[in-house]
Amino acid sequence: MTRLLSAPWVLLGAPALRGGAPVALRDGAVALDGDTVVAVGPAAELAARFGRPQRLEAVLLPALVNAHLHLELSHLAGAVPGGAGLPAWIEEFVRARLASDPAQVAPAMVRGAAQLSEAGVAAVGDISNTLDSMEPLAAAGLAGTVFHEVFGASPDRLATARQAARARRASARPAAGLRVVESPHAVYSTDPAGLLDLLGGAPASLHLAEDPAERQFVTTGGGPFAALRARMGGPPGRPGWARSPVALVAPRLGPGWLAVHVVDLDEADLAALRACGATAVLCPRSNDQISRAAPPLTRLLAAGIPLAIGTDSLASSPSLAPLAELGALQAANPAVPAQALLPLGWNGAAVGAPRVGRLAPGTAPGLLAAPLDGLRADDPFRFLVTGEGALGRRVEWLARHRPEVHP
Ligand SMILES: [Zn+2]
Repeated sequence: MTRLLSAPWVLLGAPALRGGAPVALRDGAVALDGDTVVAVGPAAELAARFGRPQRLEAVLLPALVNAHLHLELSHLAGAVPGGAGLPAWIEEFVRARLASDPAQVAPAMVRGAAQLSEAGVAAVGDISNTLDSMEPLAAAGLAGTVFHEVFGASPDRLATARQAARARRASARPAAGLRVVESPHAVYSTDPAGLLDLLGGAPASLHLAEDPAERQFVTTGGGPFAALRARMGGPPGRPGWARSPVALVAPRLGPGWLAVHVVDLDEADLAALRACGATAVLCPRSNDQISRAAPPLTRLLAAGIPLAIGTDSLASSPSLAPLAELGALQAANPAVPAQALLPLGWNGAAVGAPRVGRLAPGTAPGLLAAPLDGLRADDPFRFLVTGEGALGRRVEWLARHRPEVHP
């Protein structure tokens, strides 16, 4: 049976053409058969086809995508002090992880997955060292990609880590809608030859250009990441390894790869990112917490680089909510129209869930309502990114995402 819902605003989601603007229908409606979208259009037109709609005083929108988080670090919420840059944060993080209670990991992941759902998230790009996040993600109905992250600063250590990771993947229970892709952690934590090899496989995710110390490491072989790498058993860095972290890896990246953070970018880095076609995943609240730094949003937009939003883990972010993350981006970039920001939260393709983030007939991308609570929304996009609190604008599920099944 078809159910017709109408609202003052219906947002169609990610624009069909890259670079296009997302569409907002005033007095729009969505016809649903179960969770599947049957039709989207002006309320008057759809009422003529499907009968009288149920009217909601809300902004209707497709479910959201969190393209970068680490669910398995949820138990470290509030446990890692920040503000002194990434190398210092990593030291604090390692200390906090070692001191944490292993019994808290699983329940915190269940709470984290529930928080994703409460925030209107249907698909994720989750980073995991253990793959233990797959079960709570799948149980919460989340689709997307689990990036199976490996470390190893020397060839031997990386080979051992990759072997263990392969065995772990072979024994992991597959979850409908979640694919698993092996990924390196970052340039400074991976053996150089192994890094390029890892990036030569399936489209992976990489923490990239998160902190100026990364540039210092690849250009001079020194700095705080050289010290960190020595403690990880890696050989010393070499001066002149590359012009920049982006220059080092860009030839191995292409459409489908995720370059996460990209805070420290010069003009040549922007050009290299643009040329390779990788998607930049921005996590501004984490960057602020760790380094008091911010991604160069207006330069990334002007360069036409594909973008997505992520929250990073609860160890460096107040929540796993994409709308709150977009709200932070809007607050830091008030001149950027909210209409240009929302597509970052609808980039299902970035995490292997291409139907999430757009209301298209015949698909079940997940449908949300953001109640107006008596407010007028002249700009529905702006309304969505001005919700207060760690979860941002409150949303309710009207239809759930039905994940596409990955082989
Ligand atoms: Zn991360």
